[in-house]
Amino acid sequence: MKSNWEEKMIVYMKPGATEEEIGRVTARIEQFGNRHDVSRGDQVMIGIKGPTQKIDEGYFAELPGVERVFRISKKWKEVSREYHQRNTVIDVNGVKIGEGLVVIAGPCTVESREQTSETARMVKAYGANMLRGGAWKPRTSTYEFQGLGEEGLEYLALAKEVTGLPIVTEIMGAEMIPLFEKYGVDIYQVGARSCQNFQLLKELSGINKPVLLKRGLAVTIDEYLCAAEYLHAGNGSNSGNKNVILCERGIRTFETATRNTADVNAIAWIKRYSHLPIIGDPSHATGLRELVPDISRAMVAAGADGLIIEAHFAPENALVDGQQSVRDELEGIIKKCKEIYELVHK
Ligand code: PEP
Ligand code: MN
Repeated sequence: MKSNWEEKMIVYMKPGATEEEIGRVTARIEQFGNRHDVSRGDQVMIGIKGPTQKIDEGYFAELPGVERVFRISKKWKEVSREYHQRNTVIDVNGVKIGEGLVVIAGPCTVESREQTSETARMVKAYGANMLRGGAWKPRTSTYEFQGLGEEGLEYLALAKEVTGLPIVTEIMGAEMIPLFEKYGVDIYQVGARSCQNFQLLKELSGINKPVLLKRGLAVTIDEYLCAAEYLHAGNGSNSGNKNVILCERGIRTFETATRNTADVNAIAWIKRYSHLPIIGDPSHATGLRELVPDISRAMVAAGADGLIIEAHFAPENALVDGQQSVRDELEGIIKKCKEIYELVHK
C-alpha cells in the first residue's frame, strides 16, 4: 500500500487555457476529495494534493484545455523541476532573487546599533543588495555570545531604514514569528542547525515571507530538498510557502584545514533538478577570509543565484566569525562575481 507522499499528480494546461477549463479540472479534483494547488506561470499547472493512487490520468486528460497529466514519485515533488520547469524568481522588496546576481552581506552577528548601521552603509556602498545579521545565534557552546535578541532586530530595522536594504536574519523557533513581523524582517533565515527542524519548517510553511533555508552540516542533497519540500508543500492546513531560497553553506567532511567544504556540486545539481533559487555562503563554507573571494567566484560559476557573505566594518573586533568576515574585499568580490554571473547566464 502506497503512502500518500509517494506520488503526486500534476495537470499541465495548454497555453491559453481558459478559467472555465481550469475550473473544470479543479472541480474534478475536489470530487475525488483531493486538494489542488494552481500555479500560474506561462503555463497553468495544477498540482493534486493528497492520495492519488485511485485517480486515473485519463480522468483529467479527457478534459478540454488539458495538455498532459503526469505523476512525480519522489519525496520532493513541488521543489523539483518536473513540477515547475522555469526558475522561480522571488521578489524581496524589489530585489529579485533568481534574476541577476543578488548579494546579501553583513555581520555574522548584530553587536550594536553603530556596528550594524556602519556595516550596512559599507556593504551598500560596495554593491550589496541586502543586509544580513543574526539577532539570535545558534552557538555551539552555551558560554558563547548568544546574540542581542529583540534589541538586535531593532538595530537591523534601523539599518534598513537608513540604507533601504532589505534585512535577513535567523529564526530559531516559531515563537519568534510575531517579533520578526514587528521589526519588518524581509527574509527569515533557517540556519544549518535547524535545516531538519521539521516542526519549524511546518510553521514557516504557513507564513507569507520568504525563507532562506541553509543546508544542514551533514544533510545530503536529497534530504535538503525534502526539507525544502516541507516549506513549499505545506502541512495539510495550508498550501505552503512558495518563496523558498536555498543556500549551500559548506558541509562537514574529513577536512580540517577549512571550517567546512564548499559543495559546488550541490549548487550545480540543485540548479538542474530544482526550480528554486540557490545562493552560496563562502564565509561559513571556508571559515577563512582569504578564501572568500575565490570560493565566491566558484559558487557563482557553478550557477548560484547569489551569495551571502559575512562582512564587518572592523572584522578584527567582531564578536563572532571575525576570521571569515571581509571588509573592503567585498567590493572586488561583487564586481568579479557579477562578470562571472553574466558569462554563466548569457
Ligand atoms: C550564519 O549565517 O551566521 C550561520 C549561523 O550560518 P549556518 O547556519 O550556515 O551555520
Ligand atoms: Mn557566522
